[in-house]
Amino acid sequence: MSAPMTLDVERARRDTPGCAEILHFNNAGSSLMPDPVLRATVGHLELEARIGGYEAAAREEEALERVYGATARMLGCAPDEIAVVENATRAWDMAFYSIPFGPGDRILTAQAEYASNYIAYLQVARKTGAVVEPVPSDERGRISVSALRDMMDERVKLVAITHVPTNGGLVNPAKEVGEVARESGCLYLLDVCQSAGQMPLDVGEIGCDMLSATGRKYLRGPRGTGFLYVRREVLERLEPPFLDLHAAEWTASDQFEIRPDARRFENWETNFAGKIGLGVALDYALDIGLEAIRERVYALAERLRVRLASIPGVVVRDLGEERCGIVTFTAEGRRPDEIKGALAARAINVSIASPASTLLDSEERGLGEIVRASVHYFNTDDEIERFCATLGEVLSSGRPDNDRGAGSTVSPLP
Ligand SMILES: *Cc1c(COP(=O)(O)O)cnc(C)c1O
Repeated sequence: MSAPMTLDVERARRDTPGCAEILHFNNAGSSLMPDPVLRATVGHLELEARIGGYEAAAREEEALERVYGATARMLGCAPDEIAVVENATRAWDMAFYSIPFGPGDRILTAQAEYASNYIAYLQVARKTGAVVEPVPSDERGRISVSALRDMMDERVKLVAITHVPTNGGLVNPAKEVGEVARESGCLYLLDVCQSAGQMPLDVGEIGCDMLSATGRKYLRGPRGTGFLYVRREVLERLEPPFLDLHAAEWTASDQFEIRPDARRFENWETNFAGKIGLGVALDYALDIGLEAIRERVYALAERLRVRLASIPGVVVRDLGEERCGIVTFTAEGRRPDEIKGALAARAINVSIASPASTLLDSEERGLGEIVRASVHYFNTDDEIERFCATLGEVLSSGRPDNDRGAGSTVSPLP
């Protein structure tokens, strides 16, 4: 497979209106939309306002279908294996809550599992008598594939992990986990919320049955969009927890028929403008090439880690052997929210990863809140230098309460 390995950074920045306003290292939270995505999304809203919502949808049918083809191209699957919904959590839920669990059924997951997923395991375990068991991590913080293999037996109904956890640069060995799941014949559900848009993902290669992602993070789509992939052989066996007149057809007074494709996990009313914008965002990423995106994102992140580690008092917190665009750190004597606030006052965006979003991992590592600085391909070496210089100033200027007006005397960078 040959992918273009050049990425036109200047063009990417010209295409990104936000680059002129801020230094955005919160791409794992919500990235900056490129102009074509913004225009397509706003354009559809304007069309709805002008001619009516149903009429706009009818006129833009092709643009609305585009998202299925683009997602399928990105993942190496068929368009009818894709459902487009309002976010990654609901996408994941529709798959997870379709699985019929019973007493003693085992759900295996990883230490760095995302809170919303884990809460769902706990709820289903409480209701059905299924059990959820986190697989230990290896010495690099990844899910231990050998421990997973040892834990497998015929009671394991589902292996469900997060590819890239929300709280660091770690990349879990999704494909190796897929091999174990395939050997046993259990279901494999993969949360690619943070990896979609920053690296190639091929569902055949990974070997997952179901996969969920969001639009607004590394894919650079509009907020309120997400999608679910379900392998065809599996989707026919999964009855969605909710059905409506889009997911099923009312065929007789006492009968209904569930649609045969993955759109059985959707419902009728949706964010049409967002769906169109997501399709454009996917094509935009595919045009640049996910191999080239990964190469640049990984390189920028590694550079940021090295620079951060050279700032006195700063500790980089990322685990993993392969490490992606999410960079996390703490600074001695400074609360992460103080750091975030001081940077925001200087037009720099970061976010905070809180222990409750990845409780098992945070407790195991004794982590409180940490600062998350997540880079994308449109970020630059200059921005990394500026970020680290600014952070160095913030940290050496003393505590904000001792340092008169630290937040207010500094005007935002142009
Ligand atoms: C952000 C995130 C989610 C949730 O995505 P939403 O679109 O907000 O529902 C799920 N899993 C991981 C790992 C995430 O980082």
